[in-house]
Amino acid sequence: MNFLNKDRNYYFNLTVSQELPDKKIEDASTFMGVDVGINSFAVASTTDNKCKFFAGGDIKNRRNVYKNMRTKLQSKGTLSAKRVLERLAGKEKRLMTDVNHCISKAIVKFAIENSVSVLGLEDLTGIRDRTNNKLRKKQKYLHNSWAFYQLQQFIEYKAKNAGIITEYINPEYTSQPCCRCDHISKNNRKGLKFRCKACGFELNADLNGARNIEHRTRDYRYILESQECLSTAHTDNRSEKSGISMLATSVASS
Ligand SMILES: [Zn+2]
Repeated sequence: MNFLNKDRNYYFNLTVSQELPDKKIEDASTFMGVDVGINSFAVASTTDNKCKFFAGGDIKNRRNVYKNMRTKLQSKGTLSAKRVLERLAGKEKRLMTDVNHCISKAIVKFAIENSVSVLGLEDLTGIRDRTNNKLRKKQKYLHNSWAFYQLQQFIEYKAKNAGIITEYINPEYTSQPCCRCDHISKNNRKGLKFRCKACGFELNADLNGARNIEHRTRDYRYILESQECLSTAHTDNRSEKSGISMLATSVASS
């Protein structure tokens, strides 16, 4: 923001945030999975099962109002309708950006309060090439949503400022497995409710998703860490082998 004072001088008011170094991953580190959904805006769950639901207020209704107005205006097709459409698009974009700023701030605040080291989000960019029928309804919905990507970006940079690493994990089957016994079934999920067909465990479906994302983030991160440990331990680094093949070599030679 800049201000023009009485003397006609510009003053710039800059907020500078200093990035903190990434937190170290240890056995006792806390991870957090964030499930971004359609019903609840976002749900976060940590390694020690602390959770929080982030509501987008009446955002869903407001977006639906915009959507209905858009459909009506598009069918008119006049020049003035086009202008109104443009204004509407700008309004909606500002509304979503505001909401995303608030939600991402709250999510990262929750992560800081719970001393989270790594925050996991679903990577929906890689699923573009796959056949559409493989995608969940939610993935289809979020796939083309700039607002969803914006929310992820906001979370990532706010987390980075707090020294929290963001990891993007494979989004396949984050909603179907039971977070308690790992049993996977389509029938586990019924709308907002998750009920495991194998062990009977019941939970809010989005929270079950967030817990699965947390598990996957933890597994993924431990693999990465073990690779880094191995690659620094190997002084004889003849080729740029991946950590996994190094792991295989060291196991084979021992
Ligand atoms: Zn189960």
